[in-house]
Amino acid sequence: MRAKNTIADKTCLFTYTTEQSSDNEHMIRVDSPFRDKWQPVLLYCLKKYWELRQYGFAVLIMANGEYWIFPKLYPDHGENKTDGAKHSEEILIGQINQFLLHMGINVIRILIYTFKSPCLWRSDGNVCCTKKLLEQTHDWHRKFGISTDVAFTEFWGCGPHCFKDLTYDHVSEPSSVFHSYFQTCVFKLLSKDAAKIYGSDNSENENIDDNIKRANDKLLKLGQKPNPRTAEEHLRQGQEVIDSFKLEKEINKKLLDKWSQLVKNSALKRIKQKITADYNSRASTHVYTDIMSKLGENCYLKFVIYPKPSSKAKPTSTQPNRSRQMAAQTESGSAGGCFFR
Ligand SMILES: [Zn+2]
Repeated sequence: MRAKNTIADKTCLFTYTTEQSSDNEHMIRVDSPFRDKWQPVLLYCLKKYWELRQYGFAVLIMANGEYWIFPKLYPDHGENKTDGAKHSEEILIGQINQFLLHMGINVIRILIYTFKSPCLWRSDGNVCCTKKLLEQTHDWHRKFGISTDVAFTEFWGCGPHCFKDLTYDHVSEPSSVFHSYFQTCVFKLLSKDAAKIYGSDNSENENIDDNIKRANDKLLKLGQKPNPRTAEEHLRQGQEVIDSFKLEKEINKKLLDKWSQLVKNSALKRIKQKITADYNSRASTHVYTDIMSKLGENCYLKFVIYPKPSSKAKPTSTQPNRSRQMAAQTESGSAGGCFFR
């Protein structure tokens, strides 16, 4: 599950996940927790903890019907530690292992929720959370017969920087696997960059003639238009404006070069975001479905998507079974978790 770092490798991986995605797109068992006991307790916790950033919590179902909740926690970025960052899943695994030392025999199921899906690769060289979860859940199943569900809302995959080395030349090359993104991705130009190149803070404006100033003004206005367009449309419109002023050849080329650079910078930022998001969701889906299909009928590890609600509303739920107060009282007490039944 370690990803390599060259663009050639990334291109191969991207192509591979694209080919696989038609089969795997809907294979993650999005509905499994909603058919059984997980539904009320998962929704209760999500309503209580919901936010749009990385966090995690865990719920354990005991044989006697009790639920133990391991409250919300955040990753530890490890700035002051020698052993580096700890992801939410790793911290929860540590807490669950402590609990299972004494109570393992009484636990029948575990739900781990992580806002972003377990990582497939880590830049710090540590073992990724997906592999750790695979090993740990196997151990929990072997020792205690526990099955585990891992629920998440957004795909993390190999993280937001896994295509950082991609260049404009690479995506705009017609034979590139990324060329369709170049053709279809619409974006707004980086208006701050446009102001820097063509605006009043451009010192070159002081000694240039009125015609060039008017061309600069028109390009600045074009660069600040809010409607998104493809790279080719931005380039064509910029060229039309520059050509309309019938400037000297050298000046024309200089303005066009600056315009192209503005379009390239803006395009690359947006295109890389889209490629990264698509790759991370496809790669995660592929790895998770592969794990589940290899584990077969008695799959003790399931990956489940809890999709982001469409509105800004938090997930809605009612308190599962008994009283909320009991959960709150226990939770505010000692370490470990809280329970209700
Ligand atoms: Zn991780």
